[in-house]
Amino acid sequence: MWKKVRVFILLLVLGYVAIEAWKDLNQNWDQSIVVLVHPINADGSQNTENYIQQLNAQSFTETSEYLTANAKNYQRNAHFIFKIGRELKQLPPEPPENGSAFNAILWSLKFRYYAWKQTQSVDGYATVTLYLNYYDSNKYKVLKHSTALERGRIGVVNLFSDVKQNEENQVVTAHELLHAFGATDKYDLNTGQPIYPQGYVNPAQQPRLPQHQAELMAGYIPITETQSKIPLSLQQTVIGNLTAREIGWVK
Ligand SMILES: [Zn+2]
Repeated sequence: MWKKVRVFILLLVLGYVAIEAWKDLNQNWDQSIVVLVHPINADGSQNTENYIQQLNAQSFTETSEYLTANAKNYQRNAHFIFKIGRELKQLPPEPPENGSAFNAILWSLKFRYYAWKQTQSVDGYATVTLYLNYYDSNKYKVLKHSTALERGRIGVVNLFSDVKQNEENQVVTAHELLHAFGATDKYDLNTGQPIYPQGYVNPAQQPRLPQHQAELMAGYIPITETQSKIPLSLQQTVIGNLTAREIGWVK
């Protein structure tokens, strides 16, 4: 009896994993992409609360237009709908600081469990769910690393609750969103420098440096071999060829 139950549970888990794997590898870009964002007051401050209250559908218009325009560069008619979901009280589990594979797997399971627990039927359908942790920029100068999972299509994004940071927030949000579709980072994890050629918007440019835009998944505009600049808005970034291939815009 117990053996049968165990086999049944195992089959359920395998079935779930198989469906997830299939789903993830086959994003249909002809369907509207619904991005559900849940704001979270991560520092519990009044400033952050006020910022969250003023968020509306327009807050993400630029990001959605940017993604649509970049998809067009690859002959894709992608359509992105950002939906502001309920403000959540509970923070997602913090991604591990050190890169051990075990910690990463453990965190990914905890994060998926968190996402499952937070989901309510009122949230409706979402292709991707992003948990936006907002922090007061008067109190926090540097934010922890944001990260997203392709399997499960969920991400935790750390942002500033300051309208003056809206443009930078959009860059971070778009970057994490593409991780959820399988895009990889295109910068050197040790130095933070964009990797040549895939992290360059214009790798054939002569002279090669300085570049004038950032590849979205490289995160920075390469200036010299050892220095790079943070893009101030999405307009200073482009979704490059390799990223487009990874997320399935190019076959
Ligand atoms: Zn990244």
